[in-house]
Amino acid sequence: MIPRDFIDTLLARVDIVDVIDRRVSLKKAGQNYQACCPFHNEKTPSFTVSPTKQFYHCFGCGAHGTALGFLMEYEHMSFPDAVAALAQDVGLPIPESAQESDRPKPPPALWDALEQAAQFYRQQLKSSPRAIDYLKQRGLTGTIAARYGMGYAPDDWSPLKQVFSDYSADALAASGLVIDNERSRYDRFRDRIMFPIKNIKGQIVGFGGRVLDKGEPKYLNSPETPLFHKGSELYGLFEARAAIKAAGRAIVVEGYMDVVALAQHGVEFSVAALGTATTPIHVRTLLRHTDRLIYAFDGDNAGRKAAWRALENSLEALQDGKEISFLFLPEGEDPDSTIRAHGQAAFLRLLDNDTLPLSAFLVRELASGLKLDTQEGRASLLKQAKPLLEKITAPMLGSLIQRQIAELAHVPANELTQMGVKPTIARRAPPRPTRRPAPSRLRSLARMMLLNPQRVAEVDQAWLDANDPLFEHLADLMTWLRDIGSPSLPSLAEAARGSTLESLVNELMTDLLDKDDSWDWNAEFDGAVRQLHDDWRRRRQQDLAARPLNSLSASERQELVDLARS
Ligand SMILES: [Zn+2]
Repeated sequence: MIPRDFIDTLLARVDIVDVIDRRVSLKKAGQNYQACCPFHNEKTPSFTVSPTKQFYHCFGCGAHGTALGFLMEYEHMSFPDAVAALAQDVGLPIPESAQESDRPKPPPALWDALEQAAQFYRQQLKSSPRAIDYLKQRGLTGTIAARYGMGYAPDDWSPLKQVFSDYSADALAASGLVIDNERSRYDRFRDRIMFPIKNIKGQIVGFGGRVLDKGEPKYLNSPETPLFHKGSELYGLFEARAAIKAAGRAIVVEGYMDVVALAQHGVEFSVAALGTATTPIHVRTLLRHTDRLIYAFDGDNAGRKAAWRALENSLEALQDGKEISFLFLPEGEDPDSTIRAHGQAAFLRLLDNDTLPLSAFLVRELASGLKLDTQEGRASLLKQAKPLLEKITAPMLGSLIQRQIAELAHVPANELTQMGVKPTIARRAPPRPTRRPAPSRLRSLARMMLLNPQRVAEVDQAWLDANDPLFEHLADLMTWLRDIGSPSLPSLAEAARGSTLESLVNELMTDLLDKDDSWDWNAEFDGAVRQLHDDWRRRRQQDLAARPLNSLSASERQELVDLARS
């Protein structure tokens, strides 16, 4: 669990306008900021961000929340990840307790084992003329080898025995460094150029190893371990971070050899997926670092297949305003050979001029081999397009691609929907127009309680009108607010996350967006409490007066007299 007061401090430190504006350009509108909603497709802005309430709300689709909530929705982050990202932005160290308890932490022995192995492989590279020759032949210098921490695993069954005094330690198997069979244990990596795979913090989580000669498999990676998840780690991202930022784009290549070869020629913003197709997690991770992503795969059949898989896996991670494209190299070429043969400038020119936007690649591949001048061909286009179109969650891009497919199939775009292709859905599905709940006394009181939980104690729950639509929830809200002390509005919204009060708190926050900041809520609170009390007295008086006098107790009669007098 992340401690509540840490969340409070964090929310007090960040500015939601800044957090959102870096992702969705905001325009000042009165006391608030506005933009076209990133969560649904719209032409006039109904997405509102309040700098004073530190809350956003879309009056079109109902999306709402704090800076944390926005990051979770927009960047598809988990709650702990959103907290970590914001904390990093404002330079707030995350409490140890939070880091430890949110995920099971792998034992330190695993990190150590990988680090020691990496060190050993680096030393071995220095003393292996054969490995050095190999790298030189590939045009790599010692500087690049050092920058990526490259090494060499000697040609022996268990070279790591030289590093680990206890070669039978569990950590060696758990970190994927050794393989156990029935009789013995031996090194996973033997006679290979070693590429340490780092997480975004720069810690080694696994290795990739490439054979020097003709051996098989050509590439060998660490298995899935508690530290290494192929579907989420990207080779080279740690090293490429700054360059990606500076270049404003990232290249995804097929293998680690491509990454280091590009870096050798000064193209330092490339990364590679590891023994797996690019996953939606990879794409989202990269799109957090940059707005432009270019896949550069080999110009052979396998490369084209990998490109199509990358496309399929990118669809659900697409975001409007971000750009994913493909660079198709000539048959038989890969990024490594291309940049070695033609140099950096030529390669950058390819990136600038020869990439195919994802949408064009999608349409081209779908249409290829089909006879679009026949009904059958067009029907088959629609059939193949349907599951792909449904994956796209970027509203604008999604509807543009749908329109293009519809044109190719000679059908009006809306007919696509009738044929069962769902219209592109915003990430917060399904968009629902906000129905503003009817104003009520209790509702305005509840809003003011949110602004000052300390004053909740001034309200007697007996005064609440049982006929008010808010009656049932308000008592709960009051108890909750009394327990919680008096944090800020966004802190309240975060504290309500996941509780039964979540939607009520969010609705009330939304109501507050309209309120002018010069609004004197203290006076309003006084007025509301007075009103509530008066209403209750009137109801009580009517109640008592409606009953036959002889059914009233002595105290009730006295009460009736008092009520009538005041
Ligand atoms: Zn919206």
